[in-house]
Amino acid sequence: MKFENLGLCKEVLSSINEMGYTKPTEIQKKAIPDILMGRDILGCAQTGTGKTGSFIMPLIEILNCGKSKSRMPRSLILAPTRELAMQVSEEFNSINKYLKLQMALLIGGVSFTEQDNKLSKGVDVLIATPGRLLDHIQRGKVLIKDVKFLVIDEADRMLDMGFIPDIIKINKLLPKIRQTLFFSATLSHEIRNIGKDLLINPKEITVDNYSSISKNIDSIFIKANNKNKMNDLKTLLNIETVRSAVIFCNKKTDIDKVNNFLQKNNFKTVCLHGNLDQNLRIKSLEKFKNRSAEILIASDVAARGIDINGLSHVFNFDVPNNPEDYVHRIGRTGRAGNKGKAYTIFDKNDEKNIFLIEKLIKKKVYKI
Ligand code: AMP
Repeated sequence: MKFENLGLCKEVLSSINEMGYTKPTEIQKKAIPDILMGRDILGCAQTGTGKTGSFIMPLIEILNCGKSKSRMPRSLILAPTRELAMQVSEEFNSINKYLKLQMALLIGGVSFTEQDNKLSKGVDVLIATPGRLLDHIQRGKVLIKDVKFLVIDEADRMLDMGFIPDIIKINKLLPKIRQTLFFSATLSHEIRNIGKDLLINPKEITVDNYSSISKNIDSIFIKANNKNKMNDLKTLLNIETVRSAVIFCNKKTDIDKVNNFLQKNNFKTVCLHGNLDQNLRIKSLEKFKNRSAEILIASDVAARGIDINGLSHVFNFDVPNNPEDYVHRIGRTGRAGNKGKAYTIFDKNDEKNIFLIEKLIKKKVYKI
């Protein structure tokens, strides 16, 4: 199937073409026609499947006729983290290139004034994290009663991060008659229940099994003594040909420790976690993306949804507590037909979490 068959206008088709998208991904093929017909969607898709495009393309198409009013956005996209919200806004800007829709990005850590100026001029699309949006609503800077199109991205992560009460508050302020798209990497019972309150007769679309790991990823578990973890990590980095790697740590404090240790050992590293202010986070990501840093040390939450292509390696400084995070972490490598390598450092206390991973991926992990 081609993009031309999906019912998108020529401006959207031109920008997609310039972005190098030659054909729609599975989620795009399945979701775009239903979204254009006005249906609610319950989408199960993880990052990397092209899910952002699957809602941005039809959203732009739908909003293309119509006018925005001051402080009353016509559509709202909620994302759990600033990074994900920024990524969604970048995709929006690229696809909107030949159209004139206005967008505002409301995320924590950046100045209110600039966001406020945009809102006062009127926006078609508002992309926000839930907390920041509620701040603006409480200050009377934005009214969401005119939103006809709502997207909730990464609902499972919203749940993990404790944002569901905020979503419920926001939902009460939204009009009942609207189109809603609800995306999650997993569709647990709890997630479905949250979806029930937000969606009307949704079409359920599932792509890619979250528990499956690409055959292109070589995943190895390395036994370590807790005290030697840093040195083991250094050894791994020295023996591997690392072009570009992410090191995941469970604790924010470990991110700084690993960062300092590796910098002392002449590795070019940057880090990304929730305690860094927004400007530092943006700088870290820029350095990593333009390859002036070869290693990004991150927490699950901060790295969630960040689109980083061409990773040669993923290192887990510890076994994640949530088995789905393991699949998500190592899935950052071995993308688009490339080979990738993932190392997970574990010690004797990690047996339970390894068992949970094995249960999820339905096979034993390879330990040395
Ligand atoms: P997402 O799942 O939205 O995070 O998208 C993952 C990556 O796929 C991003 O780098 C997108 O730019 C890219 N992408 C989205 N749609 C397509 C497409 N149809 N063809 C090729 N790449 C795409």
